Amino acid sequence: MERTQLLELANKYGSPLYVYDTDKIASQYNRLTNAFSDVKNLKLNYAVKALSNINILKFFKNLGAGLDTVSIQEVQLGLTTGIDPKNIIFTPNGVSLKEIEDVAKLGVQINIDNLSILEQFGQQHPEVPVCVRINPHIMAGGNSKISVGHIDSKFGISIHQVPHIKRVVENTGMNINGIHMHTGSDILDIDTFLRATEILFDVAKQFDDIDFIDFGSGFKVPYKEGDISTNIEQLGLQLTERFNEFCIEYGKDITLMFEPGKFLVSEAGVFLAKVNVVKQTTSTVFAHVDSGFNHLVRPMMYNSYHHITNISNPEGRDRYYSVVGYICETDTFGSNRRISEISEEDILCFHNAGAYCFSMASNYNSRYLPAEVMIVDGQDYLIRKRQTIQDILHNQEMVELPAKVSEEATV
Ligand SMILES: *Cc1c(COP(=O)(O)O)cnc(C)c1O
Repeated sequence: MERTQLLELANKYGSPLYVYDTDKIASQYNRLTNAFSDVKNLKLNYAVKALSNINILKFFKNLGAGLDTVSIQEVQLGLTTGIDPKNIIFTPNGVSLKEIEDVAKLGVQINIDNLSILEQFGQQHPEVPVCVRINPHIMAGGNSKISVGHIDSKFGISIHQVPHIKRVVENTGMNINGIHMHTGSDILDIDTFLRATEILFDVAKQFDDIDFIDFGSGFKVPYKEGDISTNIEQLGLQLTERFNEFCIEYGKDITLMFEPGKFLVSEAGVFLAKVNVVKQTTSTVFAHVDSGFNHLVRPMMYNSYHHITNISNPEGRDRYYSVVGYICETDTFGSNRRISEISEEDILCFHNAGAYCFSMASNYNSRYLPAEVMIVDGQDYLIRKRQTIQDILHNQEMVELPAKVSEEATV
């Protein structure tokens, strides 16, 4: 996206503003499908939780993607786009049997990640084929909050409990039609990932009627210059060869699935915020923007790096800034960043803001959620209006309170 176009959009729609470039989404999608072009049946299910605006979901549907969902609400968002429920997989963690049953009734593929619910679901609905989430206990993932494959992780059914799964299948007569893993975000080492896939092949062999293996996600994208990212092309070559071998061994052309979020949308998004105040203290120059961790929580929550540029003054002299928000507690987007000289009212651009940014935004400090804009073929579309005070008040009930607090309460 061009700097001048982003400035125009900030002008047109106000700040703060999220902007998504669908060309970038399509090119990432195509990069992944090309890397696995020698797999006969490939299915990419976009992880809705990364960025869940229904127009983004519709764009993925038009690309031919399915959806990976973690709540019945995400399933409902997907269904509003008209996507076939068969192209949705439900991969929740620790949700109730009731929610799983409700989603199954919609015709969505169910993925169960614990033995207790697997057994209950199988007893009551043996006719509904179910995928199981396996925890291969392979340590992958950038940090402990997003790494979900380790031994004491709450995710998946332990690889050591596969005999239990088989017993549940025997006792209930249910059918396991898919094997799944999701080892966590940020795969840096392809060999580690491939070791986990071997474990899944071993599990899949133990079931007679597998239609697909879902290798989850965790593809890493660069957040700054020099960052290592997952080598998708190399992974494609190595995993394709192994997967095709497995299909021959298994005697069936099963489907290879992935469910990427970050890889598909992270780089496609930017977040634009306006500088309210430039404040020089004895040690630091702060640039205070008209936003905070209520709108982009990743730096505060995960210590994530988001590259920040001053699109109002790209040719200025670089200076060091701490870019901070307006939330009334520590609220830092980046410390000691070299940025082209900032003046009040400049628009700062936060890069890699497509994944886990708007979808994690809140109304903390009673601020409005930002507006969202999507660019398709160079044309901008407002896909979410900025909130108003009505949205903040919505669902709050003003109740009748006694005018005076009772005597006892004041003691
Ligand atoms: C979050 C999640 C994903 C997407 O992970 P990314 O790192 O964004 O690609 C995929 N599958 C499951 C089950 C998830 O919970």
